[in-house]
Amino acid sequence: MIDAVIKERDKGKINHIGFSCHNPAVIGRFFEVKDFSVVMVPLNFISTEYVEKTLYDRFIKNNIGILAMKPFGGGRLSDIELCFKFLRLYPEVIPVAGMQTKEELKQNLIYIGREDTPNDSDNKKILQISEELGNKFCRQCGYCMPCEAKGIEITDVNFIEVYYKQFPHDDFWKIGLDKKVETAKECMECGKCSEKCPFDLDVPEIIKKNIVFFDNLKTRKH
Ligand code: SF4
Ligand code: SF4
Repeated sequence: MIDAVIKERDKGKINHIGFSCHNPAVIGRFFEVKDFSVVMVPLNFISTEYVEKTLYDRFIKNNIGILAMKPFGGGRLSDIELCFKFLRLYPEVIPVAGMQTKEELKQNLIYIGREDTPNDSDNKKILQISEELGNKFCRQCGYCMPCEAKGIEITDVNFIEVYYKQFPHDDFWKIGLDKKVETAKECMECGKCSEKCPFDLDVPEIIKKNIVFFDNLKTRKH
């Protein structure tokens, strides 16, 4: 695949080669491709693997553009101002922020135009939030999929609690999670998904927690 892309680049049909990646362990392989131009990686104050100094310096030294996906932790971080302040510590990074409403767009435009970085009190908040969340959370990268045993939609099920925070509650009930949760209840805990997870997560455990969360919500709703 990459050989075909390089060929097209050399013919001038492709201007720049970029990679998107959720797994820091494989990023060294990108440098084998001569002149790749850009990476898109998860980057926020709870996912800092890609701004670890040696790797970050390598990107900069090789003039590689860095796009920060999930700048708000994939919906886990609600203090948007704090997220932008953190990213400003890395001026070469361009945040790729998902937005669902005009209000979110307006809010992001305000914060993106500012120049402040975290002060002492922000750093305390960052530390506190990072400690609360730890690093054992699903990034929704999908490497654990598919679940061959039962066809469980792991990425959606793992994100039920986040979806509940992200969506207006009426909309949340329209996403169609009921069926996915029912399928998830068939999980055999074979662990095949955990073996594929680059973040070493106990996937069946996360699935179980989200099922309980969803069932509790349903009980409250009725
Ligand atoms: S542990 Fe559950 S979700 Fe993971 S592969 Fe096995 S059956 Fe599927
Ligand atoms: S469980 Fe792991 S591999 Fe699966 S989506 Fe979440 S972070 Fe990615």
